[in-house]
Amino acid sequence: MKKVLLVVLFLLALGLVAGCSREDETPAIIADEVIADETEDYTPEDTVEEEAEEAEEIAVTPEVERRTIIMGTSADFPPFEFIADGGQGRHGRYSGLDVAIAVRIAEALDADLVIHDAAFEGLIVDLQGGSIDFIAAAMTIRPDRMESVNFSIPYFAAVQYMVVMIDDYSIESAEDLNGLYVAVQGGTTGYFFVSDELDANVLPYIRASEAFAALLGGRVDAVVIDSAVAQRFVNANPDALRIVRDNEAFGDENYGIAVRFGEYDLLDTINEVIAAMHASGELAELYYYYTEGPGAPQD
Ligand code: GLN
Repeated sequence: MKKVLLVVLFLLALGLVAGCSREDETPAIIADEVIADETEDYTPEDTVEEEAEEAEEIAVTPEVERRTIIMGTSADFPPFEFIADGGQGRHGRYSGLDVAIAVRIAEALDADLVIHDAAFEGLIVDLQGGSIDFIAAAMTIRPDRMESVNFSIPYFAAVQYMVVMIDDYSIESAEDLNGLYVAVQGGTTGYFFVSDELDANVLPYIRASEAFAALLGGRVDAVVIDSAVAQRFVNANPDALRIVRDNEAFGDENYGIAVRFGEYDLLDTINEVIAAMHASGELAELYYYYTEGPGAPQD
């Protein structure tokens, strides 16, 4: 009986010690100071033992370094994410509305933002695998995706547009795509609509720009893609392309930022950032900046 009591006491004591050390860990600055002192105190006379101690302290550094937060995106979707000309975007190499929102999220978390540019279709798997922390990629909130990720509150409303050659008047509605060749970006709402709802030959491309290249190259009859992106590519090729709308057929969509299940703190921060940017008018201003303002990609 005594033994059992001793074991219980021992476990309790362990718990207390563990509890204390956990509390002590928090402020990054304390550990930073420890490392700074150690470095200052270093003299060549230090014993091997002292050096070993130092090595241990220094090994702590990665934990106290400034936090990074990794945004997953597919940077081929102007005005939401694109590679800025010559890396001269407002935030470096990558630019666009989603990047600007991600910068605000990083600020709110006091973290450095890292951008992981990959195929749109693989982003949810990347998120689940932990190589990214959130997806900001003009991603439509869909019930099937909600089985794999949590979405933020919506931050942008969209619809699918058809883009066709300027002199092609055979396509006036979504149904007119039946029997034709249609380019889309793989794994997108445009892809799901054309392959599930229509009887068309769907050609999924990894990058949105490749779908437009297929249209301009005469390899397909139309591209089905998000409205703002369609508008952007048509503006860039005003003599070659035109937009065909059939909003009733395609239906409304809303973009959200995706996080892993259980990441409630991150999701709360993201929602607060979106709500604040919406309320202050910053979202609307940024949209203008990246579509018609100085932040629009140069053709
Ligand atoms: N909004 C579309 C979707 O979520 C396309 C997004 C994209 O291609 N970046 O499927």
